[in-house]
Order: sequence, then structure tokens, then C-alpha cells
Amino acid sequence: SAVLEIKNLEKHFGDTTVIKNITETVNKGEVIAVLGPSGAGKSTFLRALNMLEAPSAGEVIFDGQDLTKLNDKQLDNLRMNMGMVFQSFNLFPNMSVLENIKLAPMKIKKVSNDEATKVAQELLAKVGLADKADVYPSSLSGGQQQRVAIARALAMKPEVMLFDEPTSALDPEMVGEVLKVMQDLADEGMTMVVVTHEMGFAREVATKVWFMADGFIQENATPEAFFAAP
Ligand code: ADP
Ligand code: ADP
Repeated sequence: SAVLEIKNLEKHFGDTTVIKNITETVNKGEVIAVLGPSGAGKSTFLRALNMLEAPSAGEVIFDGQDLTKLNDKQLDNLRMNMGMVFQSFNLFPNMSVLENIKLAPMKIKKVSNDEATKVAQELLAKVGLADKADVYPSSLSGGQQQRVAIARALAMKPEVMLFDEPTSALDPEMVGEVLKVMQDLADEGMTMVVVTHEMGFAREVATKVWFMADGFIQENATPEAFFAAP
């Protein structure tokens, strides 16, 4: 079943068309790797899926609702179900790791302190950082911070996770630990859209490759077909 239906999506910045008439569907449990050259519009496309970037035209249907038609309050409610992980980890520097993960569930979903703590600890264990609950983000490596950022997004129990080049800012030796967490998520059936340059991930973890160039998805293929020698 469809989690996200993208219909005739467009994004213009002034005279520049960055996203051109994209129509695609993301089904439950799919892991979409969005590949393509720098400047293709990948980041803008991903940000248009949760309205961080307001589309110029078209529809994004999520949970049966066209996100482009919603007001800010309605959008906040739906966005809770879309986790987002950025290139830069964006953790709150003056909060411990545990507090970073607990904040949104407590503030936005009104989850109790005890319940938020329990969920945060489970998520930290899941991303391999059970022993880091009480430290501050600045004492962690980039790879560890990104794993906390993933745990923080998961704490809202999202229906879909959006990743914008989650390993691009990491030192090479830390890429693997973050990809491993993403692979575990995929194995558990999480629906994911991942903008990435990691071809290994696209080939081995993704269920579909969307190849983007010039603001358009030029190819929507299985990894087997996409990576097959011509
Ligand atoms: P990618 O993620 O594939 O590298 P982006 O989505 O970041 O591509 O950018 C696609 C194009 O859109 C680039 O030419 C970029 O300069 C342009 N662009 C992105 N955001 C804006 C903006 N806010 N205003 C004008 N142009 C933008
Ligand atoms: P990234 O690839 O990490 O998303 P970008 O350089 O594409 O970084 O974008 C960083 C920010 O700058 C985004 O908010 C984007 O919308 C904005 N931006 C990118 N290109 C332009 C541009 N040509 N004009 C104005 N804003 C831009």
C-alpha cells in the first residue's frame, strides 16, 4: 500500500525550475535510494516531501491527505509521522543525548517522562549507544552523533524516514556504523527515502533506485536493473 504518493510535483526558485513534474509512489516497506549528480534537485525533492520546501505545484499524499493543502498546524501533526535525518546532525548541544531523544515525544506527543526515557533508552541500545545516554553531543564522534539523530527521529515512531545524505559529513571510518543502523531499520520494514552517494547501500539495501538528473527522476528501477551492466 502507498505511504507517499507524489503527483506532478514541481519546485521553482524564481525562474529556475529545480523539480520538474515528478510522479512516483513510495509503498510501505520500500527503501528508495535517490541517486544523481550534485545539483540534480535531490535535496529539494526530499524536503518537498515533508513541506520543509513548499512545492510550487503538484501533490504529496501522505496518510490520505494532500500535504500541500494543509495549514501549518495540520502539517505539524502529519510531520510527526515523518522522521528526517540531515547531513549535519543538528542535535541540541546543551542537552544530553537522552534529553535530545526525549524532547519531541514529551513536548509534542505529551508522552510521560518515564515512557519517553524508556523509549529513548531502547532506541539508544538499538543504535549501539546504550552507554552514551548522559553525555553531551559534543563528546561524541560524528558517526555517533548521527546515530543519535536517527534515534531521535525514531522516537516519534514515524511511518516513514527521510534521509538527506546522512553519511556525507562523516569521516570515512564512521560511514559504516551509520549505514549499519539504516540497514537494520530497513530489515525491520521501515519505509525509507534516502538521498545518498553510497552505492553499496543503494545496491544492497534499497528496494528501488530513483535516479535523478536535471530535476527529474530519469529512472525508477530495482537495484539489480539499475546496476546491471548495459
Ligand atoms: P542536490 O541535492 O541534487 O545536490 P539541490 O536540491 O540541493 O540538489 O539543488 C538543486 C538546484 O536547486 C541547485 O541548482 C541549487 O542551487 C538550487 N536551489 C536549491 N535551493 C535553492 C533556493 N532556496 N533558491 C534558489 N535555488 C536553489
Ligand atoms: P545541501 O546540499 O547540503 O542541501 P545546499 O547548498 O544545496 O546544501 O543548500 C543549503 C541551503 O541553501 C538550502 O536551504 C538551500 O535551499 C539553499 N540554497 C541552495 N542553493 C541556493 C541558491 N542558488 N540560491 C539560494 N539558496 C540556495
